[in-house]
Amino acid sequence: MTPRQTALTPGSRAPKPRSGGTPDNPLAAELTRSLGPRKVLSNLSERRNYRYDAIQFGETPLAVVLPESTADVVTAVRAARAAGVPVVGRGAASGLSGGAAPAVPGLVISFTRMTRLEVFPERREARAQAGVVTLAVTEAVRPFGLMYPPDPASLRTSTIGGNLAENAGGPLCFKYGVTGDSVTGLQFVDAEGEVHELTRDAYDLAGLLVGSEGTLGLMTEASLRLAPPPRYTRTLRASFPEVGGCAEAVSRAIAAGAVPAKLEFMDGACVNAVEDYLALGLPRDAGAVLLVDTDGDDLATVEEELALVEASCREAGGTVRRAATGTEAAALWQARRSVSPALGRIRPQRMNEDIVVPRSALPQVVREIRALGDASGLPVVQFGHIGDGNLHPNILFDPRRESPEAVHALAHAIALVAIRHGGVLSGEHGIGSMKRPFMREAVDPVTLGALRDVKRALDPAGLLNPGKVLPDEEGDPHAHP
Ligand SMILES: Cc1cc2nc3c(=O)[nH]c(=O)nc-3n(C[C@H](O)[C@H](O)[C@H](O)COP(=O)(O)OP(=O)(O)OC[C@H]3O[C@@H](n4cnc5c(N)ncnc54)[C@H](O)[C@@H]3O)c2cc1C
Repeated sequence: MTPRQTALTPGSRAPKPRSGGTPDNPLAAELTRSLGPRKVLSNLSERRNYRYDAIQFGETPLAVVLPESTADVVTAVRAARAAGVPVVGRGAASGLSGGAAPAVPGLVISFTRMTRLEVFPERREARAQAGVVTLAVTEAVRPFGLMYPPDPASLRTSTIGGNLAENAGGPLCFKYGVTGDSVTGLQFVDAEGEVHELTRDAYDLAGLLVGSEGTLGLMTEASLRLAPPPRYTRTLRASFPEVGGCAEAVSRAIAAGAVPAKLEFMDGACVNAVEDYLALGLPRDAGAVLLVDTDGDDLATVEEELALVEASCREAGGTVRRAATGTEAAALWQARRSVSPALGRIRPQRMNEDIVVPRSALPQVVREIRALGDASGLPVVQFGHIGDGNLHPNILFDPRRESPEAVHALAHAIALVAIRHGGVLSGEHGIGSMKRPFMREAVDPVTLGALRDVKRALDPAGLLNPGKVLPDEEGDPHAHP
């Protein structure tokens, strides 16, 4: 996905480059001195590559550090602190809420060289440095007959550090949990450059760090819980005239005791986009399509669970098709995996929204969002992890023809729909800078005050990823754009 230009002017406050590769500001010069030139990017042309994530441009950093160890991170954080300069952690920059895009010029710490990964099969655990790519964990543990369950769609590029910072999820999270559920221990560097080794017992500080979007500390290593993969998996597809039937089927199946591994939903617009792209034989006239996996070690139980889901779908007015073979199951899931490229053919850019609402509210929420899309004139396609009520309304747009303001206004309206129905602003993509302006509407003032207290306790000088998650306080002279 191409980053979208925002009101921020990329590099507007960055210092001018000098010739000859000499660091062009005191922070870059100090870091080059202490860490060596191989670990520091100081030229403007290099630094400019670290000003965006998958959705947003930010400010060009003053310097970029590519640490190879926790000790390098400590050195970098202390140098930034001494210079009074903010620090932004960065993994693969696949984030969808502007988290890794610096709100002000500062230091970016890019974890891509911290890729040590060890597997301890006997205790079903892996230890990964922050820069390890998610898929590398999945692949490294497979030969030991183990699996690492978190499966964000971005797993081929995203890093463990970014997954921890966003508490990333994926289709498997309904049954197996999100990233934080797999973390048994965490190493992080705080705002003063001190190293902490956390477990999950006293105060669960690790739990606080997970999902903190780089605003409370820089996570350098994590211990990850592994599980034996299920021996059997069964798959079905159900189509419904409208989304209400789909949500009802899921609620019925769960109430009856089913815990499917995956419960993925696509609305009619999404189904048609995929069908236009791949012609997989999806039902174009469906209002909603549900894809379900049940899994486990006992085949009879897996089949029984699938039968329960199938009955629930039929009772809710759905038409069901079971996958008879593994190949057929793979073809059904290909539809879900093809959503991103399919949407890219409709408009060159999209804002991938991420809200969570109570499952009972889902039909009404989907209808209201569809109506908002129709009224705006912008194409909106909806899909998501329906088991958790996690919906991804995608606003498709062409920046040459459609104004970013209209896209932002629609994103705001969608956030308000979620809030009105008792939902939350983010399921897995985070708040970042994109949804920060909506936080006052989503969180009551007392709770917002408590969140600010937590931030102050761990980062008193406000140097860790400023301008993200929490809105500025009234009258703050250092308010961020
Ligand atoms: C096509 C596509 C599909 C996606 N699908 C999913 C999905 O299914 N599920 C999902 O949850 N997300 C998904 N995402 C969003 C994104 O991939 C996740 O948020 C991912 O966890 C980000 O990882 P990253 O390494 O790219 O982090 P970045 O984007 O580099 O950073 C994300 C945030 O984490 C902070 N950060 C990074 N590393 C550290 C660290 N070591 N310590 C502290 N803070 C740090 C950054 O400051 C930033 O705030 C998708 C994105 C794309 C483009």
